[in-house]
Amino acid sequence: MSKELILPKRLLMGPGPSDVHPNVLKSMATPLLGHLDPEFLNIMNETMDLIRYVFETDNKLTVAMSGTGSSGMETVFVNLVEPGDKVIIGVNGLFGQRMVDVAGRAGAEVVQVEAEWGTIIDPKMIEAALKNNGPVKAIAIVHAETSTGAQQPLKEISRLAKEYDALFFVDAVTSLGGISVGVDENEIDAVYSGTQKCISAPPGLSPVSFSNKAVEALNARKTKVQSWYLDLSMIQAYWGKERFYHHTAPISMIYSLHEALRLIKEEGLGTVFERHEQNGRALQAGLEAMGLELAAQEGYRLPMLTSVKIPDNVEDANVRKMLLQRYGIEIGGGLGPLKGKIWRVGLMGYSSQRINVMQFLSALETILTELNADINTGKAVRTAEDFYLKN
Ligand SMILES: *Cc1c(COP(=O)(O)O)cnc(C)c1O
Repeated sequence: MSKELILPKRLLMGPGPSDVHPNVLKSMATPLLGHLDPEFLNIMNETMDLIRYVFETDNKLTVAMSGTGSSGMETVFVNLVEPGDKVIIGVNGLFGQRMVDVAGRAGAEVVQVEAEWGTIIDPKMIEAALKNNGPVKAIAIVHAETSTGAQQPLKEISRLAKEYDALFFVDAVTSLGGISVGVDENEIDAVYSGTQKCISAPPGLSPVSFSNKAVEALNARKTKVQSWYLDLSMIQAYWGKERFYHHTAPISMIYSLHEALRLIKEEGLGTVFERHEQNGRALQAGLEAMGLELAAQEGYRLPMLTSVKIPDNVEDANVRKMLLQRYGIEIGGGLGPLKGKIWRVGLMGYSSQRINVMQFLSALETILTELNADINTGKAVRTAEDFYLKN
């Protein structure tokens, strides 16, 4: 016989999932409604409105796909790319690479615009790719590259997309609910996110939103969407007035997303952004005071995901193990070329709290001191506190 799950207490400060507010957990224990029950349809409608609120958009086609963030990525490409379409993708980390893979599988002819991991994609390089490649169906970019901690500015690339009549796709999995995505203001045509980063619900849904121009492109397809499950023309008929059964909505997941978004709205999007900004900058100030070096390009560092270089002579996995076993704190390691070189510290959604910043800094300092790492001791916590006092 398996035993009931009794799990250790954790502080989730990795690249996702983040900690979940108790209300959100409670919402998932709410009794099920039928997925076509009028009460549930009402919850779906409210959820769509709340997703529009965090995306800052009036886009009609705004739903939550059943599946994690990657299902949103796949939704964008399979619905808007037809075999042979040319797509420019900015690649400066793991998730840009994943977009290349997904777009290629959807039949796109992919033009990669690469930049060193940790830096941003220079819009001039996108422009050069546009000039060299003739008509392009879409330009895709990752707003918050969770694998590196870099924040990609969107405005200029969006402008280029308009100038060259291409659709503009944005991965907002980590950015949504932490920094402004501004779907309408930035004229993004197709955007997707996930629930387990700054939205702070469990993983399992992917909010997506399509502009009118993207909907026109969807309606103008010559071929059927290759994926039955992710075909938005059918899914919108389920979320829309017709309420055509497509697949059974994951009821409890929708409850959790509804509650997580409701909490964000209650706090206010602007306040939520400020909280992420403040805690992220306090953490970064503390790490630098310890003598550690931040890994992402200066001026483009995300507040909700901080990448920091691992000091010489300490072992990556050992430190993370000590953090987890002694203090219950989870952080992330590096991926790809950054494996063993950086740690990734998340302050996403409900995890973005002053108390977590202080707890982590003091735990890390204790461990690094014990391991005789070359750091400045006794500065990190004070510096972060000073940051809070001044800001
Ligand atoms: C986490 C993440 C994804 C993938 O989301 P999953 O929920 O793991 O499928 C995609 N893009 C970015 C930027 C992410 O951080």
